[in-house]
Amino acid sequence: MLKIENLHAQVGDTEILKGLSLELNAGEIHAIMGPNGAGKSTLSYALGGRPGYEITAGSVNFDGQDLLELDPHERAAAGIFLGFQYPVEIPGVSNLQFLRESLNSQRKSRGEEPLSGAEFIKLAKEKAGLLKMDMDMLKRAVNVGFSGGEKKRNEMVQMGIIDPKLAILDETDSGLDIDALRVVGSGINAIMRKPDKAVLLITHYQRLLDEVKPDYVHVLADGRIVKTGGPELALQLEEEGYEAVAA
Ligand code: ADP
Ligand code: MG
Ligand code: MG
Repeated sequence: MLKIENLHAQVGDTEILKGLSLELNAGEIHAIMGPNGAGKSTLSYALGGRPGYEITAGSVNFDGQDLLELDPHERAAAGIFLGFQYPVEIPGVSNLQFLRESLNSQRKSRGEEPLSGAEFIKLAKEKAGLLKMDMDMLKRAVNVGFSGGEKKRNEMVQMGIIDPKLAILDETDSGLDIDALRVVGSGINAIMRKPDKAVLLITHYQRLLDEVKPDYVHVLADGRIVKTGGPELALQLEEEGYEAVAA
C-alpha cells in the first residue's frame, strides 16, 4: 500500500529525513518510535505534502500512485488521513459542518455523490457512538475549548467518518488519560484494523501499543529507520531506551 524509498526531506536548509525507507502492506499496523527530534513528525508532514517540507530525493508510492506528485487534498482524497500531535482549533465552524464538508469534498474528488444531510448525520452518529463521543460535542466549534483527550477522541471520530485507507497518526496518545487511551485504541482498532487498510502509528509509549497491537515496530533515529522488529521491540525500547537499542 505504501512504499517509501530513500526519502530525503528538508526544512529550510536543514536535512531532516536522510534516506528513510519503509514499506506497509494492506492489513498491517506499523508503529514508529524514536527519540525527540528524530524526524517522526517531519515524516508525517512530508507524506501529507505540507508546504515547507521539501523532498530532495527518494520516492513514495501509495496504492500504485506516485504520492509526491499529488497535492495535499489529492492525497487525502486518495485515502490518506493524517492525525496530528496538536490538532487545530477552528472557531466559528462546527465539527459537523467541518466533517461534512471534508467528506463531501473528498467524495467529489473521487467522482462520488455527496452525502445528504440525513445520510451524513446517520454516519456521524454511528462513528461518534463507536468512540463514545456525545453528539453535542460534534455540534461545537472544531476543538475549541476541548481538552487534550477530547481533541484526540474528536480526531478519531473524524477518521471514522473519512474512512481512509491509510492513517498516519502522530502521537495520538499524547496527553491522554488511561480511559481516553482505551477509547482511542479501540477506535483505531474498530476503524482501521481491516484487511484493506493500514496504519502508521507514531508513538513514544508502549501503552498505546497494548491497545493497538502493531505487526511491526520501527525505530526512527536521525532521519532514518535504524531498526525494525515485532511488538517485542517496543517493550525492549521501553526497558532499555533508544540509545541502547538503536546504537
Ligand atoms: P520528532 O517528531 O521525531 O520529535 P520532528 O520531525 O518534529 O521530530 O523534528 C526533527 C528535526 O527537525 C528537529 O531537529 C526539529 O528541530 C527540526 N524541525 C522540524 N520542523 C522544523 C521547522 N519547521 N523548521 C526548522 N526545523 C525544524
Ligand atoms: Mg517531538
Ligand atoms: Mg513529533
